[in-house]
Amino acid sequence: MPLENTLLKQDYYHVWHPYSAIQADTPIYPVQSAQGVYITLTDGRVLIDGMSSWWSAIHGYNHPVLNQAINAQLDDMAHIMFGGLTHQPAVDLAMQLVEITPEPLQAVFFADSGSVAVDVAMKMAVQYWYSKKQADKNKFLTIRHGYHGDTFAAMSVSDPDNGMHSLFSNSLIKQFFADAPDCTFAEPCTTKDTAPLEHQLKHHHAQIAAIILEPIVQGAGGMRFYSPEYLKQVRTLCTKYNVLLILDEIATGFGRTGKLFACEHANITPDILCLGKALTGGYMTLAATLASQNIADTIRNGEPGLFMHGPTFMANPLACATALASLKLLLNSPWQATVGNIEQKLSSGLQVCQQYSHVKDVRVIGAIGVIELYQPVDLKTLQPKFVDAGVWVRPFNKLIYLMPPFIISDAELSSLIDAVCTVVAEIEH
Ligand SMILES: *Cc1c(COP(=O)(O)O)cnc(C)c1O
Repeated sequence: MPLENTLLKQDYYHVWHPYSAIQADTPIYPVQSAQGVYITLTDGRVLIDGMSSWWSAIHGYNHPVLNQAINAQLDDMAHIMFGGLTHQPAVDLAMQLVEITPEPLQAVFFADSGSVAVDVAMKMAVQYWYSKKQADKNKFLTIRHGYHGDTFAAMSVSDPDNGMHSLFSNSLIKQFFADAPDCTFAEPCTTKDTAPLEHQLKHHHAQIAAIILEPIVQGAGGMRFYSPEYLKQVRTLCTKYNVLLILDEIATGFGRTGKLFACEHANITPDILCLGKALTGGYMTLAATLASQNIADTIRNGEPGLFMHGPTFMANPLACATALASLKLLLNSPWQATVGNIEQKLSSGLQVCQQYSHVKDVRVIGAIGVIELYQPVDLKTLQPKFVDAGVWVRPFNKLIYLMPPFIISDAELSSLIDAVCTVVAEIEH
């Protein structure tokens, strides 16, 4: 690759990117700035963002209200330790999250990233059973094609075969896996779908602390959408076999699937809920793990009586203040209509791709559009084609997918969809 650009040269030799190598031969694009749905590269090219910086920038970039929230908080303090101290942004955000999530969830733990929020959820489940003197319940059950993050505990419940983590399998805690359901979002769920999960529960419930799942949309593990009826059945099975239910809404939370939280499609309540990604509107890293009052009480009343986790940057005030402003923006907007409109445009616009023989499936839910191919894409050749077409889309494996910022206009969305369909039509196969 031509490396006359100093920034690119230094990046190439010294900086790791997500799931990448030092001196990688895949292209990297230096960004000058971002505004609304537009990303401006240092060479002056302007791209329409189709990724929301991995589900998070739901209000677009450089939003005046979010900028103002950070600036105002900066005048008071950027950070303060959370051990023995508290502050208004953290308490206000916790109250707000408790209010908008299902009723039993009352206790909020602020974590630094989604993966950590998942690790925290798993530790909470283990400590809950330990406190109840059932310490044998310390394993987890999940379904295949899941993705829960890159830390060790999160990896242990992510799909064991999809290649993201398989090389670490010997270092991971062995958990229980069941086949994911075949029923798609619109289909009914049959006993064939639930049987593998129930089989594992029947045999291993005495060792299982919790089931952990992404509700309705399995994200980075395959962008699969499954039936709300399945999620309902999972809730029933958890209660029947006395295991907790952890829902990972790090990707699906805050309106992305058309409901504020994807578990609302099934009208069910988890015992523990993980949030992240869009929590701060994509401004900075913050995640949260919410637990039911029952879990909080059980941990307090057990041994050692304290929940054993505490990050240095827990409940960072800048992040909490931004998250509060982002939530207010979302909840005061007609977000259901907005996401419904994006859903409709994605559904009609991406449909043309279905005719190509190299396209296996096109599916849409809420503000998520997926084109699944038969063969993995060659990122090295495909990425520049998207950039040349004026859009920022980051495919992985066999999946080309869109999850634009909610503020995208109809005209911008059509340009994005047209560009993607044109590039997909030209993929060599
Ligand atoms: C992205 C993601 C995570 C991990 O979050 P990070 O902030 O990247 O650590 C966990 N679960 C799901 C469902 C995700 O989409």
